[in-house]
Amino acid sequence: MLDQYGRTIEYLRVSVTDKCNLRCRYCMPKDEGNLLSHGQILSYDEIERVVRLCAKMGISKVKLTGGEPLLRKDLCSLLRKLKAIEGIDDVTLTTNGVLLESQIPGLVDAGLTAVNISLDTLDKAQYEAFTRRNQLEDALKGLKAALLYPQLKVKINCVALLGKNEEQWEKLAMFAKETPVDVRFIEMMPIGIGKSDPNGSEKIVYERLVQAFGEAENLTGTFGNGPAVYKQFPGFKGKIGFISAISHQFCEECNRVRLTADGFLKPCLQYSIGTDLKELLRSGTSDQEILEAIKETIYQKPRSHQFKNSENEGCMCDAMQEEHRKMFSIGG
Ligand code: SAM
Ligand code: SF4
Repeated sequence: MLDQYGRTIEYLRVSVTDKCNLRCRYCMPKDEGNLLSHGQILSYDEIERVVRLCAKMGISKVKLTGGEPLLRKDLCSLLRKLKAIEGIDDVTLTTNGVLLESQIPGLVDAGLTAVNISLDTLDKAQYEAFTRRNQLEDALKGLKAALLYPQLKVKINCVALLGKNEEQWEKLAMFAKETPVDVRFIEMMPIGIGKSDPNGSEKIVYERLVQAFGEAENLTGTFGNGPAVYKQFPGFKGKIGFISAISHQFCEECNRVRLTADGFLKPCLQYSIGTDLKELLRSGTSDQEILEAIKETIYQKPRSHQFKNSENEGCMCDAMQEEHRKMFSIGG
């Protein structure tokens, strides 16, 4: 459906858990004690009901996220349920990859067509410093296992952290040189703990890659469901993408809404506004009433985020509406 600014909203990110097996420093505190209990998160039947109603409003693509989505028991069964909903064309996944190796056969069998693997460094010690866990090898095994399926679109997402993983940008880009994998560099968004991290802007990352690989060609066209822009470096099998919420605000083309693990439908990452669908789901509300609530939430999607600027100084939106959830509890 169209929101109040005429944007087509067709993409839903569904967080299935706020739990995670890593503790990335920009995302989740070391001793996060405030996690949702099993009873507080939506069941698979509840998620299916929400997605079915969203599909009636024009949502056709779903991304499963978290926390770490592969921690949720039998994610394949949810994937299967969602794929079977009329109007849902695509269900994809974003994961840190640590548990992917053993789960990828079942996920592909259930209909997974694309997976994004978050990987900010290939250096073991740095990975442990970034994530507070020693699991780089497992993440790489997950990536390798995903690459065994030619029908699966695999992307690597790296948050560019100035002064922290700069020397890794070129190394990660090598995956796109040698394999048909797209590597995307994400600008840090001033949300949750990420507010205090130094941002590696698209310009800085691109210039660094040009020094290593030569000038790239700008690609036009659609290569995914999101706001990434892509470039083709000479001789690369895959593309290099940039997701630059700070230096290239892409709100005019934003096509997404988010469902948190506890059933809150969020129309914009930066604002706390939205609708508590869990409350409706668990109080005997009819499909028609929930549909109206979804419609209203999508329609009211804010025009744009108000992230300040490349200095990442925070939010300029109304303090009452600023999102205080951290990224692991929103789903990215
Ligand atoms: N655990 C899964 C993973 O890491 O892919 C899914 C959830 S995680 C919140 C989704 C994505 O959000 C990851 O790629 C992560 O790097 C990114 N992320 C977390 N905090 C961020 C921030 N402040 N700005 C930009 N991206 C962020
Ligand atoms: Fe976990 Fe993903 Fe957040 Fe890292 S970015 S702590 S893997 S939810």
